[in-house]
Amino acid sequence: MNDQVVAGIDIGGTKIAVALQTHEGERAASRRLPTEIALGPVRILENISLAIEEMLAETSTTLAAVGIGCPGPIDIQNGLVMSPVNLPGWDRFPIVELVENRFGVPVILDNDANAAAFGEYFHGAGREFQDMLYVTISTGIGGAIICGGQIHHGVQAGAGEIGHMIVEMDGIQCRCGTFGCLETIASGTGIARRMREMLASQNGGNAENYRHITSEKVVEAVEHNDETARRIWNETIKYLAIGIGNAITLVAPEAVVIGGGVSAAGELLLEPLRREIHKNVTMLPIEKVEILKASLGSESGVCGALMMAQGIYEKTRENVS
Ligand SMILES: [Zn+2]
Repeated sequence: MNDQVVAGIDIGGTKIAVALQTHEGERAASRRLPTEIALGPVRILENISLAIEEMLAETSTTLAAVGIGCPGPIDIQNGLVMSPVNLPGWDRFPIVELVENRFGVPVILDNDANAAAFGEYFHGAGREFQDMLYVTISTGIGGAIICGGQIHHGVQAGAGEIGHMIVEMDGIQCRCGTFGCLETIASGTGIARRMREMLASQNGGNAENYRHITSEKVVEAVEHNDETARRIWNETIKYLAIGIGNAITLVAPEAVVIGGGVSAAGELLLEPLRREIHKNVTMLPIEKVEILKASLGSESGVCGALMMAQGIYEKTRENVS
């Protein structure tokens, strides 16, 4: 008899990671595909399905369940992807039904931040904790709440959106429609924008002249002790400490795991962030809350999707027996 595996799919705006894992948690195979947006969701999903079929053939395994992490918003109940900003054309796309029909196995969908949080919780920086906040700081800011080993979804699976907590009165408008969200200031995009505006105000000209400035460039300049970059960075940390500090006060997690491209700054980010958060959180023993960098990098999403798949496989078996 063939060995059984579960599949995990992590769909991103530029890359898609697909992997197979045995029920014992051993990785059997993995692939990375570019997200060829222009192909549209049906053909992209076809390519993902073909990759899974090839891996199943190569490893002589059969499929037991599939977990999918995808940029939100999503409709978990109905298994739909609902027009994510970075996946144009994915409008009420019935991904769960299509994958179920293709493979005839249970399929589970969650948003990418929840999938990444689950990956870190099972295999990464969060593996020693039951209650964990996950914050991803990249182009935008996303988040997830894990309580007692379970993702807290809330109404319409809307929980965890720490990037859209308002941290500045009368701030600039966010892509979500409201004003002063943490994401507008402290995401990679927000950091780069503020640096460009600051350079334009110091040197004259307009911010467009500094298009080449990215958040990675700001981090590099901070490392070289550039005064303007330091000001932007310190301000970024102050705002992150307000948002994350408020979330800690509300949830009292054992750990906060920080991932996403901006977290590559490592202790340059974490050391001052811990200091600021310690000032802001007064209602619980903040020294008992670990603030850690995510440890799985770009693997966290697919690791989480695999664990979601394993979870739904086990649940389906319990229901049958
Ligand atoms: Zn927002």
